[in-house]
Amino acid sequence: MQRLRELSRRVEAVYGEIADTFSGYQQASGLSCRSGCGECCTQPTVEATILEMLPLALHLFDQGKAELTLTQLEELGDGHSCINYQRLSFDGKQGQCSVYQHRPPLCRLFGAAGYRDKTGKPSLSVCKIIKQDHPSRYQQQLIAMESDPPPMMLLSKELVNQLDYELGAKQLPINQALQQALERVLFKSYYSFADDGQQIA
Ligand code: SF4
Repeated sequence: MQRLRELSRRVEAVYGEIADTFSGYQQASGLSCRSGCGECCTQPTVEATILEMLPLALHLFDQGKAELTLTQLEELGDGHSCINYQRLSFDGKQGQCSVYQHRPPLCRLFGAAGYRDKTGKPSLSVCKIIKQDHPSRYQQQLIAMESDPPPMMLLSKELVNQLDYELGAKQLPINQALQQALERVLFKSYYSFADDGQQIA
């Protein structure tokens, strides 16, 4: 269990760097999300690795919510949007993240980020709502791509996932990644308690 906690601390340290880099770019470029918009979170295509969900799994464990969340995830099944999204409008487009401090890297990059296109050239990925809200800022950033390149999303995910090649190896739908992270935490905690019990006995 101690190893998982240490690993989680290292993941969270990288999350701090990612948040600074991406929010800095989004603020400086003016390509920020519309207030209260949660449309990205409604997509069942949001992915994460088990490692990326480890800080959240440990947080839920410390709050005594790990078993309950695991049961909810098992009942929910596949193909659903993130279990942590709280819908605040009928169509679900307005809402908020209930685990904002512990969200995985992809969620920290929503809005505007760089990626490499099929030819390997750096490109800018910007949410369609931000493009609608700020068409001229979007055009300016496209023109400034060479002098002011956006931070690359893949690079940021790699910074996290290189911390543990096994847990960071595979991208999964976000609910599945959380489920497997919770299973790891509960498994380790069970054996930590069992070990402590044996030492006492
Ligand atoms: S973890 Fe939070 S930000 Fe990420 S998809 Fe879920 S609700 Fe949205």
